[in-house]
Amino acid sequence: MFDKISDGFKSAINKIRMKDDEKALKKALDELKKNLLKADVHFKVVKDLLREVEVETKKAGIGKANFLKALDKTLTKILTAPGNYGFVYASKPPTVVLMTGLQGSGKTTTTAKLANYLKEFKKKKVLMVAADLQRLAAVEQLKQLAEQNGLDIFYDENSKDPVDIAKRGVEEAKEKFYDVVLIDTAGRLAIDDELMNELIKIKNEVNPHEIFYVADSLTGKDALNTAKQFDEKLDITGVILTKYDGDSKGGVALSIAHQVGKPLRFIGTGEKVQDIEVFVPERIVSRIMG
Ligand code: GDP
Repeated sequence: MFDKISDGFKSAINKIRMKDDEKALKKALDELKKNLLKADVHFKVVKDLLREVEVETKKAGIGKANFLKALDKTLTKILTAPGNYGFVYASKPPTVVLMTGLQGSGKTTTTAKLANYLKEFKKKKVLMVAADLQRLAAVEQLKQLAEQNGLDIFYDENSKDPVDIAKRGVEEAKEKFYDVVLIDTAGRLAIDDELMNELIKIKNEVNPHEIFYVADSLTGKDALNTAKQFDEKLDITGVILTKYDGDSKGGVALSIAHQVGKPLRFIGTGEKVQDIEVFVPERIVSRIMG
């Protein structure tokens, strides 16, 4: 999954053969820069990473081992924004989660993926709430996903008010002792005030513990920009990156925490309900460094 980035790191590491060779360090850093930019890592992330790796390596003494250590440390730092990692439960159930994102980002699919993950692997009682009343087929899609995977859903086909649906969904979860409520909200093709106002209203009504922004990794830099805009309005608590299986470059995963300032929490790796991975920075760093 991180093959391209991993290859870039390895070819940079191989440039350092001798000790105390400034020229070799420069070559390695140049190689790293070239490969990271090719993998679509944001230029500011590349700049910070190179600067820090250079300083750390020189401080410890130029050599392969110190270069590797500096890379490991810097990469972990870049991937780690302050906040929660994995799925974090509220002290008093139900944990209320708003799923937000643009239309087509994979929000509805990810809602079902997350519900399935929490049910199957964490043995939690999870309720999905169909509050995306914007896209005509969204409620039907979530109903089908619920049926196919034995997941619980709250919906009301007669309601036109997503704020009311979200509120009633959370009430239902409280009454029936659910551990987690995942609210699938509406998206748009682009950010507009109407969408944001609806989301802010839902947020104010249900007071969520987590607000996840679902971003399509295939949209590259746009994924970062829209995540930032959602964060400004909603103060999101994490990002879920979808369609990573189709992203041949992969750099956006490396840029999110650094550029948005919020942690990447999960990665979508396919169309099936099981295709979701928890994002743990240290684990990803060891995969990238091989
Ligand atoms: P929404 O409009 O944001 O609710 O988007 P959907 O959940 O309907 O997803 C849009 C399309 O993306 C669907 O065809 C999904 O199957 C697909 N999709 C979602 N997540 C992933 C993923 O991680 N990998 C792949 N390959 N496809 C995905």
